[in-house]
Amino acid sequence: MQADVARTKAYYASISPSSLCDCAYCRNYRAQIRAAFPKIAAYLGSLGVDIEKPLENSPLEPDEKGMLEYCCCQYVVFGACEPEYRHWIDQVEFRPAASYPGTNIEEAHFVIEFFGIQLSYGA
Ligand SMILES: [Zn+2]
Repeated sequence: MQADVARTKAYYASISPSSLCDCAYCRNYRAQIRAAFPKIAAYLGSLGVDIEKPLENSPLEPDEKGMLEYCCCQYVVFGACEPEYRHWIDQVEFRPAASYPGTNIEEAHFVIEFFGIQLSYGA
């Protein structure tokens, strides 16, 4: 992976909070993700990514225990990444995404994704 960390940081800094998804599930994610998964936040931060500004987080429905799973969390990174790239933090696998929402970005970039993040919801 060759991440352009400075360009990625500038991109995340340019995303205004008011442009982020305002649905309850996304607000729940932003409110908790950094504190709940500090190692993931640090890894993404090392790439220039702000963990509170995902491209996509694919929430399911909250379960009976009040846990909400975000099944596929995706983030834009500037630079290039080989398809075979993998990184592990505890049980969480990171890899370059093959499909993701349109980014409207002209410069070289990729999307990194990870799966199965659970956060409490509605407590
Ligand atoms: Zn949302």
